[in-house]
Amino acid sequence: MADDLLSRHRAVLPDWLALFYQEPIEIVSGDGRRVTDSLGRTYLDFFAGILTNAVGYDIAEISDAVRAQLDSGVLHTSTLYLIRNQVELAERIAKLSGIKDAKVFFTNSGTEANETALMLATQFRHSDQVIALRNSYHGRAFATVGITGNRGWKASSLSPVKVSYVHGGYRSRGPFASFSDQDYVAACVDDLRDVLNVTTSGDVACMIAEPIQGVGGFNVPPDGMLGAFKEVLDEYGILFVADEVQTGWGRTGEHFWGIQAHGFVPDMMTFAKGLGNGLAIGGVVARPDVMDCLGASSISTFGGNPISTAGAKAALDYILEKDLQANAAKVGSQLINGLRDVSEEHPVVADVRGKGLMIGIELVGPDGRTPSPEAAARFMEHTKARGLLVGKGGLYGNVIRLAPPMTLTEEEAEEGLGILTESIVAVDKEIA
Ligand code: PLP
Repeated sequence: MADDLLSRHRAVLPDWLALFYQEPIEIVSGDGRRVTDSLGRTYLDFFAGILTNAVGYDIAEISDAVRAQLDSGVLHTSTLYLIRNQVELAERIAKLSGIKDAKVFFTNSGTEANETALMLATQFRHSDQVIALRNSYHGRAFATVGITGNRGWKASSLSPVKVSYVHGGYRSRGPFASFSDQDYVAACVDDLRDVLNVTTSGDVACMIAEPIQGVGGFNVPPDGMLGAFKEVLDEYGILFVADEVQTGWGRTGEHFWGIQAHGFVPDMMTFAKGLGNGLAIGGVVARPDVMDCLGASSISTFGGNPISTAGAKAALDYILEKDLQANAAKVGSQLINGLRDVSEEHPVVADVRGKGLMIGIELVGPDGRTPSPEAAARFMEHTKARGLLVGKGGLYGNVIRLAPPMTLTEEEAEEGLGILTESIVAVDKEIA
């Protein structure tokens, strides 16, 4: 059955659509932090879709909110009419953003959110120049793939905006790898200044950055680094867009937004993934003068529709009411500490890093240094065989990414840790 679906998938969907596992699985049901595939195998999900199922599976509060909207008989008409859920969700996000008098525009994905932010910034600043971090990922449409700084995901270098890349993304294999945090930040700030003065005309529209790079391998910059960048950008009037698609909604444990670790409020934030707990929703929250700078009318037919905003409102309320940020901090530390203990005796693990429930395990070959995508692929098969789903990423495809639903319990964290440990031990032997 599953095989049949796989060949049908391959026949009609693009070759470049990434699929996990040698034998990809079809997930047919979910409950809490577990999903079941079409062959009846149940897995603990430590990737939450792709950080999409922030709250988990089969959450009554969210299903009920969506069902109530379905029962009204109006799935959606268009955003040409007032939508109560949209307004109420925007009010919550505007308040949570910390941006003064913030306004929100809803989209259907993170890509669209970033495309919108780039459109707003370029319009506001009358400039088509953008600064991005090396090794970043911002989406798969024309402008966003163009500014993406990670070779593996950079399907095209063509872009409607001109991009310059600065250091501050993937640190451990870059030229500043051996620097202390303080020296690293100073070097990255110098690099930004140099890039601005040497490669741009200075009138750059915005800098866009993920507070923790997601696809790039859960790279955590020193706290405050992006704030130091912002001080330089302010000298030029350049806007800062925080891409919170992965880091928002309390996932990093210590803050609700990843950018808060950097001590400033950005001009815009983009969001998606976890907000809808699986429903397609994204958006931009911005300073009112930036949001309202468009000279022409615009619309998203489906962005902010009553179904996705009903589900997102319920998911957001759930995250806040149950203080899932605090839970992410607690079980996140449990996982990071446990993994660091295990990795000490297993050279296949070069690094365990992360914050809250965004945890990366960087795998290397027998020399203890060379990135090993093979080890990562094997690792994923081992965890799958033992009933655990994990993610993968990094510039070299050698970073295992853990991002379970933020409702993960301590017992489930322990269970996952056991499987991760067995898989580390197995891969360590296999590639030695
Ligand atoms: N920005 C970041 C940081 C992401 O991780 C992603 C997706 O992985 C996107 C943007 C694009 O979001 P979407 O896949 O919803 O278009």
